[in-house]
Amino acid sequence: MPTSADYDVIIVGGGIAGSTAGYLLTKLGIKTLIVDKALFPRKKLCGGMITLKSLHLIKKIFGETYSSLKEKNIISYATKDFEINFRMANGVISNTEYPFIFVDRTVYDNFLLQKAKDIGTDVLEGQKIKSIDIDECKVVLFDKKSDGTLDEESEGRIFEADFLIGADGVNSIVRREFYRKGLFKRKDWERNVATTVETFIDRKDLEKGTFLHPIMSMGIIKYGFAWMFPNKEKLVVGLGGLTRKNRGNFVNALDDWVSLLNLNSKPIEKEGHLLHYGIPRIKPVYDGKIFLIGDAGGFVCPLTGEGIYLAKKTAELVATSIYNNLIDKKSIEKAYLWNLKKIVLPEIKSAKRLRFLCFGVGRLFNYKLLKILVKRLTKSFIEVSQGQRSFKWLKKRNFDLLEFAK
Ligand SMILES: Cc1cc2nc3c(=O)[nH]c(=O)nc-3n(C[C@H](O)[C@H](O)[C@H](O)COP(=O)(O)OP(=O)(O)OC[C@H]3O[C@@H](n4cnc5c(N)ncnc54)[C@H](O)[C@@H]3O)c2cc1C
Repeated sequence: MPTSADYDVIIVGGGIAGSTAGYLLTKLGIKTLIVDKALFPRKKLCGGMITLKSLHLIKKIFGETYSSLKEKNIISYATKDFEINFRMANGVISNTEYPFIFVDRTVYDNFLLQKAKDIGTDVLEGQKIKSIDIDECKVVLFDKKSDGTLDEESEGRIFEADFLIGADGVNSIVRREFYRKGLFKRKDWERNVATTVETFIDRKDLEKGTFLHPIMSMGIIKYGFAWMFPNKEKLVVGLGGLTRKNRGNFVNALDDWVSLLNLNSKPIEKEGHLLHYGIPRIKPVYDGKIFLIGDAGGFVCPLTGEGIYLAKKTAELVATSIYNNLIDKKSIEKAYLWNLKKIVLPEIKSAKRLRFLCFGVGRLFNYKLLKILVKRLTKSFIEVSQGQRSFKWLKKRNFDLLEFAK
């Protein structure tokens, strides 16, 4: 059992961001502990789409390739065909050079956490955090009784480290400490929150040979879109959009989407989750020693909702910033913020502009404008949404449309 004060870094959350940061830090010789409240393999609501840039990063960090991931059954499904439409009409059905890749997050997240464990990262699973002190870089965990249940009366076990990383998702308790200190306003975060709802359809309930390619559909939800992502054993059917633009209409909208797909022969179970869907207005560092990465810092593409790549990328940036400047907290803070500014934020800002064009201006013209854009620029759009190209590239290439949407 790990004991306190033995760690250079404590990571709260062992999802994609946490396990990637844990893996890299341990590999670099930094003693790291990951604490997660869930027992893995654990469920995570997600479309499970992995882009090409995400795949490149998996290779760079973990040495895993498309073929090795397929061999290990980590990739559940891949196809080069896709469809973008408007309420299942007026769509574009096409194919691409590189496939759309889908994973089951239960399997994928467990695989990455196992990688961190295998390299020597200490991991505490099923551990509830009693409190966090970001001034002292300290977390207190509830003790467990002999029967495995939490001892809510106990003083708790204290773990201290030089650095603390908040990788605990959209409802981050580490970020909550930033609010408490008045480091940023909660309403700046809430303005940019999207609500997502998903359901899963077992392939056994479908006719064989149907629903073989992903479908993205507009006009079902405002400032967002609906999706049907195929997996080997199931379909992931969901939608998400900015919460403030949709007045709690998400569950009805999912029923609408399911019936447009003709999948409503059986009652469906729906699950919801929040997602940050805008430019992160928060400084994700406190005092050179507390860092927010992944969903905890709001690092999600504000057009496509892609967060898997940014969870890994921000984890990589924080791990290398710590390693390169281990003895100087100010330099670590500077390095992380600089890298975010140079690598991560420009893409998020361009995506946000394109979103305005697609969902804001597009909706005013009943998506006719979007239809023209998609038809004219299908290849470019897909190359960007798959991560083959950057939003910066799209901006340069396409008549400065993004400048127009500034
Ligand atoms: C419906 C939906 C569909 C999506 N589809 C896609 C997609 O197709 N492609 C894509 O790239 N992205 C997608 N995303 C975004 C993507 O899921 C997230 O960006 C990604 O999971 C972020 O990873 P993370 O590690 O930062 O957070 P998470 O995956 O949320 O992991 C956080 C971890 O922290 C743990 N934790 C939380 N609180 C505590 C606590 N108090 N103490 C200890 N541990 C704690 C949790 O148990 C969890 O394991 C989707 C999101 C949603 C909601």
